[in-house]
Amino acid sequence: MSNQSLSNRDLSVLWHPCTQMKDHETFPIIPIKKGQGVWLEDFDGNRYLDAISSWWVNLFGHANPAINAALKDQLETLEQVIFAGFTHESAVELAEKLVTITPQGLNRCFYADNGSAAVEVALKMSFHYWRNCGQTQKTKFITLENSYHGETLGALAVGNVSLYKETYAPLLMDVITVPGPDCYHRAPGESWPDYSARRFTLMEQALQQHSDTVCAVIIEPLVQCAGHMRMYDPIYLKLLRTACDKYQVHLIADEIAVGFGRTGTLFACEQAAVSPDFICLSKGLTGGYLALSAVLTTDQVYQAFYADYQTMSAFLHSHSYTGNALACRAALATLEIFRQQNIIEKNRFLAGIMTKAAMRFHDHPHVAEVRQTGMILAIEMVKNKHTREPYPWQQRRGLRVYQYALSKGVLLRPLGDVIYFMPPYIVTEQELLLIADVAWQGIQQATQD
Ligand code: PMP
Repeated sequence: MSNQSLSNRDLSVLWHPCTQMKDHETFPIIPIKKGQGVWLEDFDGNRYLDAISSWWVNLFGHANPAINAALKDQLETLEQVIFAGFTHESAVELAEKLVTITPQGLNRCFYADNGSAAVEVALKMSFHYWRNCGQTQKTKFITLENSYHGETLGALAVGNVSLYKETYAPLLMDVITVPGPDCYHRAPGESWPDYSARRFTLMEQALQQHSDTVCAVIIEPLVQCAGHMRMYDPIYLKLLRTACDKYQVHLIADEIAVGFGRTGTLFACEQAAVSPDFICLSKGLTGGYLALSAVLTTDQVYQAFYADYQTMSAFLHSHSYTGNALACRAALATLEIFRQQNIIEKNRFLAGIMTKAAMRFHDHPHVAEVRQTGMILAIEMVKNKHTREPYPWQQRRGLRVYQYALSKGVLLRPLGDVIYFMPPYIVTEQELLLIADVAWQGIQQATQD
């Protein structure tokens, strides 16, 4: 097997996500033979440092021995069982643990099998809760500008990144979109808390105006990841929690990308000391091994569905692979690593290295901003540093950085012209310095004309 032979077979039968397939006439697809720790290896023996955790899922490396061992054990006993009318030990134990480690008050766990599905579940549950409470006029959702919540139709509707949404707009439910707290737009000299708090007045207005018809506000706490890794201050979440209580609207925290230590705390909501009414989890939940998601909610929500069958108030949403035993077991092994190895503390050290490694980018003539929240560091490449005029998107400068980095053995898939580091938590100091060096050279090359 070689890169060439497997890519030929791939390109004759496969259709890849988030890809203009014609691009592969020019850029080769990379067939991966194996993964080990932060490294991926192709069939020609080239190695790639997975600096974006394989789309933000991998926390403790590829082929992690502890997760592998747990999965082998689980395989010997149970791989999957129908989750209606039946249960199993890994699903129960995982729910017990999630209830314990998530923000206070989230005492019920509903499983689904990917991030978008979790968002659909949270939206439907919130709407259905109000309906069960007799508030049938509540049918709308409030979302933030530049937000992303997945790509099934409901999740896409509550997102706002036009690249993914615009084409499908005629298919999507109407939502109320509020300008966001993204601190890239703060005034010169204005602090993150000041700007985020100032922007909250727009959310407050929307809630004041629409709360009668609104089920929930859905938000990505602290970092809008797919929206170019834009960041904001925890004060916004604090204000939002208070306002959601005041106006009787649910708060849905989509921690699919930011959960499990990415922002410096186990969950991003902790930094604002708030508990949402729903938290959506996926990606890092299984350490990047298997598709699984969970929506945790409150006793109050759960109780509104708990009644005699004849009332027809049950939540009948289902997916075939709900609570998959292998996925739950991988998640348990992942949580065990967090517990045993004091990961959040260790990540503080790694985040510090990332900060230092990215220092020199601040003065780069084509970098408008270097921003960081915990284990996410983003570098915004622009045409004009002073006016922040972006490069014309058609020039695909970020793609040039991506290709340069691949040629140097680093996987740094950008979001447009934003280059970001979001490595597995087992990355070493030397590897972080390599990522930063390669990113620097890549940005130099991509911005030279
Ligand atoms: N919400 C957020 C915040 C995400 O970043 C993503 C995935 N990038 C999703 C939802 C959707 O998850 P999935 O790709 O598993 O459907």
